[in-house]
Amino acid sequence: MIRFDDILEKASSLYSEKDITTLKKAYVFAARAHKGQIRRSGEPYLSHPLEVAMMLSEMKLDRVTLAAGLLHDVLEDTDVTAADLKKNFGKEIADLVEGVTKITRVQDTSPEARQAESIRKIILAMTDDLRVIFIKLADRVHNLKTLKFLPEDKQKQIAQETLEIYVPIANRLGMGRMKAELEDLSFRYVSSEEYFKMVSFVEPQKKKAEKEIKKIKKTLQDLMKENNISAEIFARIKRLYSIYNKMKHQNIDFDQVYDFMAIRIITDSVKNCYAALGIIHQNWPHFPHRFRDLISMPKPNLYQALHTTIITENKQTIEIQVRTQAMHNMAENGISAHWKYKEKSPRSIMKEDARLHWLREMVELYKEQKSPKEFLKNLKIHLIPEEIYVFTPKGKVVTLPTGASVLDFAFKIHSEIGLHAKEAIVNSKKTPLKTILKTGDIIEILTSSEKQPRRDWLNKAFTSRARYHIKHWFNQQDKIKNSAMGKKLWEKKIKEYKLPSPWLKKENLLKRLSEEIPFRLPDIDAFYALIGSGKVVLNNKFMEKLFQEEQLADKKETLLEKVVAKVAKRPKPLIEVKQADEAIINLAKCCAPIRGEPIIGYITSGKGMTVHAQRCALVKKEILNPQRFVDASWSSSSAEGSYQSKLLVKSQDSPGVLAKLTTAIAELGGNITKAQVDTFADQKAQIKLTIIIRDIKHLEQIVKKILGIKEVSFVERV
Ligand code: MN
Repeated sequence: MIRFDDILEKASSLYSEKDITTLKKAYVFAARAHKGQIRRSGEPYLSHPLEVAMMLSEMKLDRVTLAAGLLHDVLEDTDVTAADLKKNFGKEIADLVEGVTKITRVQDTSPEARQAESIRKIILAMTDDLRVIFIKLADRVHNLKTLKFLPEDKQKQIAQETLEIYVPIANRLGMGRMKAELEDLSFRYVSSEEYFKMVSFVEPQKKKAEKEIKKIKKTLQDLMKENNISAEIFARIKRLYSIYNKMKHQNIDFDQVYDFMAIRIITDSVKNCYAALGIIHQNWPHFPHRFRDLISMPKPNLYQALHTTIITENKQTIEIQVRTQAMHNMAENGISAHWKYKEKSPRSIMKEDARLHWLREMVELYKEQKSPKEFLKNLKIHLIPEEIYVFTPKGKVVTLPTGASVLDFAFKIHSEIGLHAKEAIVNSKKTPLKTILKTGDIIEILTSSEKQPRRDWLNKAFTSRARYHIKHWFNQQDKIKNSAMGKKLWEKKIKEYKLPSPWLKKENLLKRLSEEIPFRLPDIDAFYALIGSGKVVLNNKFMEKLFQEEQLADKKETLLEKVVAKVAKRPKPLIEVKQADEAIINLAKCCAPIRGEPIIGYITSGKGMTVHAQRCALVKKEILNPQRFVDASWSSSSAEGSYQSKLLVKSQDSPGVLAKLTTAIAELGGNITKAQVDTFADQKAQIKLTIIIRDIKHLEQIVKKILGIKEVSFVERV
């Protein structure tokens, strides 16, 4: 078991005296809390937080992270409360420990829901303070190291979860060393058969390989010296999991795995990276398709290096990575390197670091997708992105996830280009916006200021960035529509109420509104939008509440005003709605109301007013929001319209019934546009008619007449 002093020894040069005091206090606190507890390995429980803190100190993380690492299990496994922690160590450390604990406490029955829930908790905890994940990763590493003491099914579950959740997160954050360790530790439990196969394959080859790689290393050292390139050279056998992954990926067998040796060259400058590469390529043949310049084209997690694979005189293949010391640190520690120095606040790091954009995207994604299954599916795509590289016409490289479309490319270049994309030229050919891109494509987007997004773009865009911008645009449009509609309703209302003129001033009105309604109102348009979306209903109750202190004028119009209004009126509206004018009225498609039958108005977000028949199932079953209903009636003086209605007629199946029906309808001036007759074995017939009529009375007359036909037993409006 490691001792606290071992950590202190390592830490003493990195931390101030005050820091050390906090760490000592945390150690004593944890020791007391876990007193008497034993791990399954038989060791005292305290050994676990000590190991975790040791790892965190090796990553040179700050005092707060280290202290929280020592305390990370006290909330979960002891009587200590969050309040105790806050009292003793302050809010920052207490919050961090609580964050770690929340991730641990996931109880959901289905494995899918459980996984989605853990990822959600991790992501939310990370957005609060990224250091939570550093502790959690270290915790995972030590738990995996002691996994052999757990029952077999638990072993597999924990290892699997590590590969599916923690490894991708470590990768996203660029924490290469943590990722590698988690992978190798989990591999053994997740696919133990393959693991031991790999071991038995690699071990015997190792000796031969080590001899060869030593030789190459020596040659490289000489070459670098000759050319005045300062370089440190490391030779290694690749990690088992990465060999295994390559085999699986390329679908090859053990005897076909030829490169499990790797060399890493660390130089002092970018210039020397390329110089070293030139020397390597001059001295050995290399595989052109395996060369990758990740310096000029870093991975999304900011990993940078040159990768090439050479063939030696003895026909051995060796992968060589060339990078600077700074790139090396980045590759090993990734984002956690920020916390080594206390220059910036965690918040500002979270804001600035490009590697955390996905984290925010994940939070958006979670808000958007309520079903755990959907969330998990999308999350896995975003968490383990296979990238493609495409080009602008000027040769600029654009990195996108596999599956991205032309539209995603457009939004990646700029949201304005995405929103106004008209068409695309991919590899000199006109190409639809939905086309999925592949590495090497050269894409030009043609835009037009008149072009606007369509709803179906949401099915064509893959990246959350594009989807966000498209949705945002539609929300804006809805707001504009709602606000125009709301303005009309409001203006009508204030005419009706004859508000005293001070209230016509926006500032006065806004002030009163802010006091009366529970919404934020940056401007008057925001208020109109609330009316238009039905969130504020301008009924008498509302108006009276708003202007309770005012003497509202008598709502009745004077005779003169009536005359003026009558003269000024445009063609008669079809429907009179208490709070709207006909320009924004639609007839509901679900019930297709007919002039004369009882109706009711319903304010729809973004669409104005929809008029339903009162018999409509949506109205009767109270599926619609009752707050948004407004009274409506058919205008008595309006011209007759022509309405479509569907009837179901049941009758005996005898010749001439259809003829009798059509005659009856025609005699009353109805117009049949469609008729469908079904006959049945029991001499019964069923006729579906679509007819055009003037109003509900007209329909009633027709129904009455049809019922007068002796073969007809039943008529119903459908
Ligand atoms: Mn733990």
